[in-house]
Amino acid sequence: MADIKLNSPLQYIKGVGPRRAEVLARYGMREVRDLLFYFPRHYLDRTSVVPIAKLKQDQSATIIGTVRAHGVLHGKRRRYEVILEDDTGAISLIWFQGVRYWERIFEKNQIYAATGTVSYFMGHQMIHPDLERLEEDTDRMIHAGRIIPVYPQTSELNKVGLNSKGMRRLTTFVFENLSEHLPDYLPPAERHSVGLFGLNDAIRKVHYPEHRDEIERSRRRLAYDELLEFQYLVFRNMSHKDTTVKSHSYEKPAKRLSEFLDSLPFRLTDGQKEVSREIFTDLRAQHPMSRLLQGDVGCGKTVVAILAALYAAENGLQSAFMAPTEILAEQHYRVWKKALSDAGVRVGLLTSSLKSADKKKTAGLCEKGEIDLLFGTHALIYDYVSFRNLGLVIIDEQHRFGVEQRGKLYDKGDNPDLLVMTATPIPRTLALTLYGDLDISTIKDMPAGRKPIRTVWRAKDARDKVYKFVLDDVDRGGQTYIVYPLIEKSDQMNLESVEDACKELSRGALKSCRVGMVHGRIKAAERDKILQQFREGELDVLLATTVIEVGLDNPNATTMIVEHAERFGLAQLHQLRGRIGRGEKQATLIAIAHPPVSEIGHQRLKYFVSTTDGFKIAEADLELRGPGEIFGIRQSGLPELRIARLVQDQDLIEASRGLLIKLFKPYSELDVDYQTLYKYLEKRASRRDIQLGGG
Ligand code: ADP
Ligand code: MG
Repeated sequence: MADIKLNSPLQYIKGVGPRRAEVLARYGMREVRDLLFYFPRHYLDRTSVVPIAKLKQDQSATIIGTVRAHGVLHGKRRRYEVILEDDTGAISLIWFQGVRYWERIFEKNQIYAATGTVSYFMGHQMIHPDLERLEEDTDRMIHAGRIIPVYPQTSELNKVGLNSKGMRRLTTFVFENLSEHLPDYLPPAERHSVGLFGLNDAIRKVHYPEHRDEIERSRRRLAYDELLEFQYLVFRNMSHKDTTVKSHSYEKPAKRLSEFLDSLPFRLTDGQKEVSREIFTDLRAQHPMSRLLQGDVGCGKTVVAILAALYAAENGLQSAFMAPTEILAEQHYRVWKKALSDAGVRVGLLTSSLKSADKKKTAGLCEKGEIDLLFGTHALIYDYVSFRNLGLVIIDEQHRFGVEQRGKLYDKGDNPDLLVMTATPIPRTLALTLYGDLDISTIKDMPAGRKPIRTVWRAKDARDKVYKFVLDDVDRGGQTYIVYPLIEKSDQMNLESVEDACKELSRGALKSCRVGMVHGRIKAAERDKILQQFREGELDVLLATTVIEVGLDNPNATTMIVEHAERFGLAQLHQLRGRIGRGEKQATLIAIAHPPVSEIGHQRLKYFVSTTDGFKIAEADLELRGPGEIFGIRQSGLPELRIARLVQDQDLIEASRGLLIKLFKPYSELDVDYQTLYKYLEKRASRRDIQLGGG
């Protein structure tokens, strides 16, 4: 069948058949059109391939060579090694895992393209590179200057012969026999003003570019479309806060405020004052506030939220303050209880691990309006919790909550004001894109006297020195966190665990220190006790999992060691780092990497040690991970951004938003082109069920 249409089922394309069709369907590909939108992961061409002799350490590169030797090596760790050779030299490719598998894969004289980071150990090597097996002819294509696409590979696809090469065969055949064009919904004038390819060109060239720069041009067109659709969904689902009028009002002045501020052990920074003013203005306004308060870890967002709650209480309104972990909710409660009570604010705490009698009691008080400010975790959203007069909802570390959870708490009031806080700051254009109509306040400064945290990256073998550093620091009166990725050893993963380390260290290297341990499986009461001891200086070293990641506040902690730092995300590392350097002493973070470190792990660590600026970290994190995980987009029903890069594509975000604004007028006033686009976007949007935050 030569005549292929966009909606032809893939199953009937030559060389596919039912078995492959079934696997393709699992990746969302049923019709030819779907296949066209399955994009290559990267490309191979002569200009992107580095001669082996020219490789440098830490460089990430693609090489092409012939297998000269391969086999298992038994050393300190068993590994599989392949010697790959090109005209200029040879390099080792190393795998620590899957030795059996690789044994079966490699044969002498096969040609491979390998992509990875170059490291040095008795010669250049690549650990766990990405591999693409090439035939003689593809190798020749590359040397003739052709650019060939490399498609994402999974073992499922490989099993039915749809590895990168198989996919290439399929897409080539489809493009050769496709008898239809993809309809392009973008008005030509818009396309030209941004200098974008037409859709057909973009699709063809993203698979088979003739020149390298066509890859980026295609990507930009496809990214534009994605951003357009994404923002359409956000705009379409915006809440209509401007037409909503609150049922509560702030008539009383904040009388107890200055007294309260005087009772604090510090003065507010200019940044804190400025955002407090913005928030107070919002509270007094007629429409409900929905404001995002952003600021780097440790800049002091909590106190700002507390001031808002105090103001609410003075006006007879209740506030709910939701935090993502019990540790954090308890800490907020404990830290603020005294000062707030002195100011006449009645506070309460509600978390799941409280005794059920206590929970009932607190919920009862809250219902009767006898609690002004209720701190808590997700427990706050349960049905048995209700408020008499909820005027202010505060969400701490908002990205840790799903949209639905935020909404549930919000719905316990009658159009309450909403304040959400995050330590993952993002540029304004992005916030608009992601959150639609949230207003944004940013704290740009840090409390005086903070020193940037010294951050270093050490290999595992340097551990003895690291422990020595901890001992010296303890002698000087400092305290240390050591963070582990696991609670206990697991068979699947060869990682350090906090339980083993605790046994080992308290008998060994840290014998002379007072060592404690917290993790998610320790009972809440016990955990509290340990944290309390750590805070009060009765422990020198706290071994922990990432339960301590958010919010924990011990100004005397000066050192943090992160084991297996290569496994943590950038934002997560930055949050962890935020646990130290909260006082005036110089603090140090030591990130310990355990090989093998993947290419992305390497990039992350390099970036992490290079800056302590939360804004830069957030941007880099966006680049590396995409926004899906970071902002909980996934839970909202919005599509994943597969191609667009939120940081790099700012101009496309703005251009597509400009186009959207043109679309928001009466349909009949739109030109035909724009009507077509509108109808197209609306049709696609109506198939989705979106939930955005902010009530
Ligand atoms: P985050 O913005 O990360 O939530 P916190 O609100 O937990 O930060 O504040 C971090 C630490 O800084 C806390 O110990 C807090 O008491 C302290 N802090 C807050 N504001 C100031 C200030 N203006 N001056 C000095 N310390 C402050
Ligand atoms: Mg905080």
